[in-house]
Amino acid sequence: MQSTAEFMEWVEGRTPGEVEFHQAVAEVMSSVWPVLQRNPEYAEAKIPQRMVEPERVISFRVPWVDDTGEIQVNRGYRVEMNSAIGPYKGGLRFRSDVNLGILKFLAFEQSLKNALTTLPMGAGKGGSDFDPKGRSDAEVMRFCQSFMSELFRHIGDHTDIPAGDIGVGAREIGFLFGQYKRVANEFTGILTGKGSTWGGSLIRPEATGYGVVYFADQMLKTRDESIFRKSCLLSGSGNVAQYAAENVIRLGGKVLTMSDSSGFVHDPDGIDEEKLAWIIDLKERRRGRIGEYAEHVGCEFRAGERPWAVEGAEVALPCATQNELSGQDAKLLLANGVYVVAEGANMPSDPDAVRRFVDARILFGPGKAANAGGVAVSGLEMAQNASFATWSRDKVDSRLLGIMVDIHHSCIRAAAEYDRPGNYVVGANIAGFEKVASAMLAQGVV
Ligand code: NDP
Repeated sequence: MQSTAEFMEWVEGRTPGEVEFHQAVAEVMSSVWPVLQRNPEYAEAKIPQRMVEPERVISFRVPWVDDTGEIQVNRGYRVEMNSAIGPYKGGLRFRSDVNLGILKFLAFEQSLKNALTTLPMGAGKGGSDFDPKGRSDAEVMRFCQSFMSELFRHIGDHTDIPAGDIGVGAREIGFLFGQYKRVANEFTGILTGKGSTWGGSLIRPEATGYGVVYFADQMLKTRDESIFRKSCLLSGSGNVAQYAAENVIRLGGKVLTMSDSSGFVHDPDGIDEEKLAWIIDLKERRRGRIGEYAEHVGCEFRAGERPWAVEGAEVALPCATQNELSGQDAKLLLANGVYVVAEGANMPSDPDAVRRFVDARILFGPGKAANAGGVAVSGLEMAQNASFATWSRDKVDSRLLGIMVDIHHSCIRAAAEYDRPGNYVVGANIAGFEKVASAMLAQGVV
């Protein structure tokens, strides 16, 4: 292949319609092309072609009975993407728009992200087009039991270790783990994000959100600044957003907005610890909508909108979903003085937005670096499970901070080595790629 364009033509021809996957691959390939030119052995061994082809894709029927007695049929998937540096590792997503292209994009991103953590984890991603929103606990349990009744034969603590993602939180992980234990007749660490009394790591629920803010803080430190007293626009109000907000507050910053798929709330006084606890209860226990927060505190709720037009912030933390921040949104953010963007979600900024952030030379931390704290602490959960140990909160939190600092250094180092100083997109893609590619090269044609 002579160019990224030729490579992408080949990828798109083999995987028609998988638009999010194409978007993710195109971004990575344009960053790593200079690496392929400097190391012709990677191209000769067809490392890029092998990297974009999952090692295995499992697709299965998930039948279950709803509360009215009607039979429902969903589709389950597990994409086992790359095991060059460790067993497959990555979350499960339950949302109605889940399809193979979305899971392949997430699994491909995961392969580079997991490499960045420095822990021995390969990459996978899975899920279903089932949406837990609006379903009773009993329905969610029956679905999870049916899903795991098939998935259990493909996973294992040395094979493939799923975790949560959108729509898969503590409740779903509990039901999935219970069914695994029942059908496999063993208690092993086959999932991460477990409850702290049954093998889960302390700080795992917080890890992705905390890590994003640690990463933003590291980027700011390159300019002798910090999150302290910075105002932040956050999107999402799920797992990642909740704990990103908590860490912004812990480090002395101010959270102005949060959102869900119905719209966003703008609280100019700042969402403090007490208000955040109310939002977490709303989302995790009462399973309500973010607009209820606006009614509760008397602030603004904007239905159907995203928070990127709100003025008065220096930092943006997109923590909801892919492509939630467009080129137009990026233009507005830049015009309003935002100069730090750290992605909590996977690929939340579309390609036009990424280009604008990079061209403007702001501090832009792409998801595969900035949100790697979650999978990193999943790796620490696996280490604790394997050694029958339970580490303290402080120990896990300081390991998380250390890993985010290391990831930040790796990005800076790789970007500088390829003459793109300060470009975290290039740095993250190259650092992750080099690790996976060299392991694949060493292991032969498999
Ligand atoms: P949750 O399900 O806990 O929360 C998702 C949040 O995003 C909710 O507020 C949800 O709103 C909102 N959202 C989801 N889809 C859309 C959409 N299409 N449009 C607008 N809002 C939407 O998921 P997580 O917090 O776990 O995941 C958020 C992001 O972070 C995802 O991109 C995920 O891949 C990524 N990520 C998660 C990690 C983790 O450890 N959990 C690790 C690394 C990355 P609503 O409730 O209305 O659907």
